[in-house]
Amino acid sequence: MNATVFDTTAEGIMVTNADNLIKTVNPAFTRITGYAPEEVIGRGPSVLSSGRHNSEFYESLWDSVQQKGYWTGEVWNRRKDGSVFPEWLSITAIPGEDGIAKEHVAVFSDITKHKQDEEQIRYQANYDALTGLPNRSLLSDRLTQAIGSANRENWKLALLFVDLDQFKMVNDTFGHAMGDELLQQVASRLKRCVRESDTVARFGGDEFVILLQDVTDMDAVAHIAAKVIDSIIRVFTLHGREVYIGASVGITVFPDDAVNADSLLRNADMAMYQAKEHGRNNYQFFTASMQQRTLERQQLELDLRLAVKRSELEIYYQPVMDAILDRVVSIEALLRWNHPHRGVVSPKLFIPLAEDCGLIGLIGKWVIKGACTQLSQWHKAGFFDLNMAVNLSSRQRELGLDADYLRQVLQDTELSPETLTLEMTESLLMRDTDEAITWLTGFKALGVNLSVDDFGTGYSSLSYLKRFPVDILKIDRSFVNDLPADIDDASLVKTIVAMADSLNLGLVAEGVESKEQADFLVGIGCRNLQGFYYAKPMKAAAMTAWLSGDVQGTGTT
Ligand code: C2E
Ligand code: MG
Ligand code: MG
Repeated sequence: MNATVFDTTAEGIMVTNADNLIKTVNPAFTRITGYAPEEVIGRGPSVLSSGRHNSEFYESLWDSVQQKGYWTGEVWNRRKDGSVFPEWLSITAIPGEDGIAKEHVAVFSDITKHKQDEEQIRYQANYDALTGLPNRSLLSDRLTQAIGSANRENWKLALLFVDLDQFKMVNDTFGHAMGDELLQQVASRLKRCVRESDTVARFGGDEFVILLQDVTDMDAVAHIAAKVIDSIIRVFTLHGREVYIGASVGITVFPDDAVNADSLLRNADMAMYQAKEHGRNNYQFFTASMQQRTLERQQLELDLRLAVKRSELEIYYQPVMDAILDRVVSIEALLRWNHPHRGVVSPKLFIPLAEDCGLIGLIGKWVIKGACTQLSQWHKAGFFDLNMAVNLSSRQRELGLDADYLRQVLQDTELSPETLTLEMTESLLMRDTDEAITWLTGFKALGVNLSVDDFGTGYSSLSYLKRFPVDILKIDRSFVNDLPADIDDASLVKTIVAMADSLNLGLVAEGVESKEQADFLVGIGCRNLQGFYYAKPMKAAAMTAWLSGDVQGTGTT
């Protein structure tokens, strides 16, 4: 062997003679094992043995060396100081002229670091770095394993899907560092709700999954779900600040509801959604009817995708009146779906669906373009000072609707921006507040108006409104419904009128169905009214005819 390589290589080298006694070792050998040459020369290689391998291991190693002339593999050895370390070892037999090995050369490197890296990688692949909980992939392994043993032992399993309510708000309001801290605290609270043998996993963002093994009693499962919710609704202290969140839990049971891991996870997720719909902070067991509903929903979603292609969507128009001047001030664009079998489908049904599957991006842009084109035609037909209101969905922010798009539409349809109002719900304002403000400010900068739809049904605090570039409040139909008889509603509507006044905001009341309601509203200072009392939403052609017959209106044709 080249002496320089022998002396300088990073790998430990040990040469044994025909009797397998150590002849020479290199400096790296000493560095790795701690043994000086004179301490090992003349001794057998077993001086390094760690005791971690049995005799069969060494037998098969030497068999290979004798038969094939070499062996490579991982070996645990012991250093002079007693510490055990993993090494990557290759042993080569150097045959003499008679063909029998006269020397063995063992070359090895310390792979402790490599092993640690491997362990680290294994950990990262299976555990969530933030909370230290098993991640989705390890959960899925454990679930599959648990199903195997549950099958053998005739056990039941329960899977709890836990979704945090209001987590996003904490994250957006207080920042990601607080959000992270909150998730860590949630993780440790969840662990305290279950036994050591159960698994609490972080499934994604603010979603956790709990796997309960060996379940006999559904009441006990319900009890744990209640315990989970109870532990989450208690106050969290984050950097000295008190924060409240909530949790919705969906539960599914093996083998009652499903027998494979994917279906169980899907069921639990579905049940969690039901729990959310039933108001927050409760749990729901999966039921077959949920599945039915989900299937129907999926069918409708497929239909909706086709509807876009097959032009089954149509915009209806409903006027907003100035009740004192008895003239149209604005027209709201309301979407309809002419379903080939179901007939006209209400937007209350399919807009949420379109939001969930992202189709609202495409549909929403189509509505804006269509409504603006129609408005432009009405302007050209002589209804000069008509305005148009279009409803906005919060999801459209992530789905490509921005000020640039709107500017282009306004340009193409030759509309001045003040003629357009975008209506959004309070929940849009509540979600991702800062991003929402930036988004809406972009529209506002173009010169369009912004209106808060269904006002009064959400959080609607004055301080909230001040943060948004809002121009108009639309009093929700539910408050108008029982006017003027209902005293509570009457006083609430009066408060909203005063609020709009003090914030210098425009006001519209929607859902006006009777003269009494109209008179009451005008009497307290709300003169812009929309509702069946004046006109139902109608197709564009019918609206044109209605406008033309509307002698006191803006139409002059
Ligand atoms: P909205 O924006 O609050 O629209 C008012 C709803 O009240 C409309 O329901 C309208 O038909 C109904 N309405 C108007 N006057 C009366 C009345 O006097 N009595 C009663 N009982 N109802 C009245 P519609 O058209 O079913 O729309 C429901 C919701 O769907 C809308 O509520 C809006 O949030 C949403 N929506 C409709 N079109 C679109 C759209 O293009 N994009 C988005 N994102 N949402 C839309
Ligand atoms: Mg609206
Ligand atoms: Mg409304």
